[in-house]
Amino acid sequence: MAAPLTGPSQSMRRLRALLPQVLDSVDCLLFDCDGVIWRGDEAIPGAPQVINLLKERGKRVFFVTNNSSKTRKMYADKLQALGFNAKEDEVFGTAYCSAMYLKTVCGLQGGKVYLVGSNAMSQELEAVGIQQTGVGPDHIHGKQGDWAAVELDPDVKAVLVGFDDHFSYMKLNRAFQYLTQRDCLFVGTNRDTRLPLEAGKAVPGTGCLLQAVETAAQRQAQTVGKPNHFMFDCVASQFGVDPSRCLMVGDRLDTDIMLGSNCGLKTLLTLTGVNTVADAEVHQKSGSAERQGMVPDYYVESIADLLPALQG
Ligand SMILES: [Mg+2]
Repeated sequence: MAAPLTGPSQSMRRLRALLPQVLDSVDCLLFDCDGVIWRGDEAIPGAPQVINLLKERGKRVFFVTNNSSKTRKMYADKLQALGFNAKEDEVFGTAYCSAMYLKTVCGLQGGKVYLVGSNAMSQELEAVGIQQTGVGPDHIHGKQGDWAAVELDPDVKAVLVGFDDHFSYMKLNRAFQYLTQRDCLFVGTNRDTRLPLEAGKAVPGTGCLLQAVETAAQRQAQTVGKPNHFMFDCVASQFGVDPSRCLMVGDRLDTDIMLGSNCGLKTLLTLTGVNTVADAEVHQKSGSAERQGMVPDYYVESIADLLPALQG
């Protein structure tokens, strides 16, 4: 059930009793994926029914994820396989949004991208007409002098860093060599430092790779993913949604809830993923204006708590 966290001076409230009013106050809901609608390859119990009922009630639903390992099509296939009524154009992942960012914000025309990332990212870049190089293993050869003189593609105008399970010293070095050219653009998908797994386990996230490249290059990347407002801008520009009538639903305070705060959306924390109500209360009591952006308006134990209001 859901309760409201209604702002810096009030405590967060569980949403159950307020749910009908909150649902009436929004036309559009944005859901983070991991820890919200699924964990790994399993749907959160009740989540498909919630999403499908929201749509039957006429709500617009979007899926907004910092994970760069899949294309929109791959996410749509996964959603459908798990029982969600979802279409490709409702998915906004960082593989797709990074391609859009390079094209629309950076105005990358005709140049190539050196990609530290996945095949999914290369597909999304090529779908918007941007050529890339770099996907796959890049093993080290020779000595340090050879590394410094590594062959570079003269058409590369930007370095893009996302999740790359082939990340290596040579990729770090190659990104560094491109970024010593001051006019080379530098973009990262997101700064999440950990990918949470089942049973409290985790693995290093894209933020670790991005920080390695930033440290080497002594430059800071522009990042596309939550909490940067760009992902919401993509949704808003394509679907014309009113921020004041949107609810952002997420399990992380520093990405999901902060995105909602940055964009003027209502925010709902769900407790099936990374953060707890106690985490939010620490931000609330911190006295820091910036950290209030990580205090959600409402919280629920699980998005399955939305079911009774939708079935009623
Ligand atoms: Mg999440």
